[in-house]
Amino acid sequence: RTVYVDGEYLPENEAKISVFDRGFLFADGIYEVSAVLNGRLIDNDLHLARLERSVREILIPMPLTVADIAEIQAELIRRNDLLEGVVYLQVTRGTADRDFGFAEDMKPTFVAFTQAKTLRDTASVKNGVAVAIMDDTRWARRDIKTVMLLAQVLAKKSARSAGFHEAWLVEDGCITEGASSTAYIITSDGALVVRPNSHAVLPGCTRQAVLKIASEQGLRIEERLFTVAEAHEAREAFLTSASSLVTPVIKIADRVVGDGTPGPITRRLQTIYLELALAQPSV
Ligand code: PLP
Repeated sequence: RTVYVDGEYLPENEAKISVFDRGFLFADGIYEVSAVLNGRLIDNDLHLARLERSVREILIPMPLTVADIAEIQAELIRRNDLLEGVVYLQVTRGTADRDFGFAEDMKPTFVAFTQAKTLRDTASVKNGVAVAIMDDTRWARRDIKTVMLLAQVLAKKSARSAGFHEAWLVEDGCITEGASSTAYIITSDGALVVRPNSHAVLPGCTRQAVLKIASEQGLRIEERLFTVAEAHEAREAFLTSASSLVTPVIKIADRVVGDGTPGPITRRLQTIYLELALAQPSV
């Protein structure tokens, strides 16, 4: 596999990052993940806009222009013959002798690679998944897509060990989001409920695309907090992310959602999301 590190395309086993890179020492960096279907990037403008926002929020300069990054993504897809999977991007503050403080003129490190992966034709997307309920132990700026992911890593490990696919995280009795996805429920009267964007959650790119579809479909959208109890009463539930697309949720903790199969509204949103994703212009 060819990867991109600071200006060079290299075989993955020749690529190197310094021991003193602040991404490694302090998790001082951010990342993005864009899905690829049929060799095309999905919602990539949204992901690159969020990357720009993430670096700005933590005072890292853009390592390259958005157009240059898009070109690198396209080149990696070509060189690796990627048809389905993801393109991962990471920007860290750069390399310097270890110190909490940092100079403002540091040169950021930029890394990009592809991962071939089946996204569409998976058991999760087709049959739905079970999600565990867990405390949200993350920091207070979850709107920034930082590589500081230990809380999510441990939440997912604990969920997977207990037979769940994902963890839905809870703060003050309300669900914030999944460890690596946005969480939604459909109420008994057919409203789509999702938590509003704030510092408490990552503003999902797939969320933005799916809410646009939901609104065009005439669904009532309620952007508000919702409790675990409400989730247990929901008629349908689903989650979204770049790599899981629209994935039905059929069980929340020990409670089955609806009749335990993907719900019709979820299915409709999933189908339309995929149709539109596949119709996006190639890079
Ligand atoms: N929330 C968290 C915590 C995430 O890590 C992710 C994606 O990995 C999402 C939400 C979904 O975001 P997106 O749809 O942009 O992939």
